[in-house]
Amino acid sequence: MRWEGNEQSDNVEDRRGGGGGGGFPIGGRSVGIGTVAVALIAGWVFGINPLTVLGLLSGGGEPAPQVQQGPAPKPPPGDREAAFVSTVLKNTETVWSAVFRENGGTYNAPRLVLFRGVTPTACGTGQAAMGPFYCPGDKKVYIDLGFYDTLKNQLGAPGEFAQAYVIAHEVGHHVQDELGVTAKVDAMRGRISQSQSNALSVRVELQADCFAGVWAQRSQESKQWLDPGDIEAAMNAAQKIGDDALQRSAGRAVVPDSFTHGSSAQRQRWFGAGYQSGDIKSCDTFNAKNL
Ligand SMILES: [Zn+2]
Repeated sequence: MRWEGNEQSDNVEDRRGGGGGGGFPIGGRSVGIGTVAVALIAGWVFGINPLTVLGLLSGGGEPAPQVQQGPAPKPPPGDREAAFVSTVLKNTETVWSAVFRENGGTYNAPRLVLFRGVTPTACGTGQAAMGPFYCPGDKKVYIDLGFYDTLKNQLGAPGEFAQAYVIAHEVGHHVQDELGVTAKVDAMRGRISQSQSNALSVRVELQADCFAGVWAQRSQESKQWLDPGDIEAAMNAAQKIGDDALQRSAGRAVVPDSFTHGSSAQRQRWFGAGYQSGDIKSCDTFNAKNL
């Protein structure tokens, strides 16, 4: 991926300067390292979003802290990884602004927070080991760049475009939020069983993969910045972070009912659907008979 020299986003917030440490408040209570570890193990084993688990363990249901929206502390110039993330984020802003405009809407871009270890979010404490995530409460994408090492070395998904796909997937969740999908899904969750809720999560996640594909297609159309093998690198990443692949690599039996992101094949298929069409209409995972 030839991204150098392209425009960078102003919406990257660099929180890597501050020291990490245990005990950020979640909904008014402090959560220690032990709780975080338990939540991470539970999330890993059961395939539940660790933020949800944390919410349950610490009482949950309490109002999220108000998040100040001052100017974002910028990453230092010359930081190559931060420059890469800013460049990809900027391009998602360009692409999604155009898509929303074509459909008569306006796109409000999210912020992307770079952090190390732990960081407070409107969705509870963000933890590096959860992997990157999007918080609808403050409309921010959170990523500890150490995840890229995990992606490459532990999960076997190297390549800059695999890294770009991760950002595009999280931005895809923001697009869902902007389109009102997130609110609809949240309203349904209270009325359905855990396995139905997991099945709904799979459709949410596969749609974010499809949106990442739409972004990839449209960004390539305007930038021509992909090299041969880049799409394959993204497809490989989608395969490596499928729930079945993660369960297998954790030495667990594959339990489809516990899937919250979709199987490797499904994640590849939906990224591919978005990439082939470049059209969000091809991303209706909620009405798809077969995922
Ligand atoms: Zn996701």
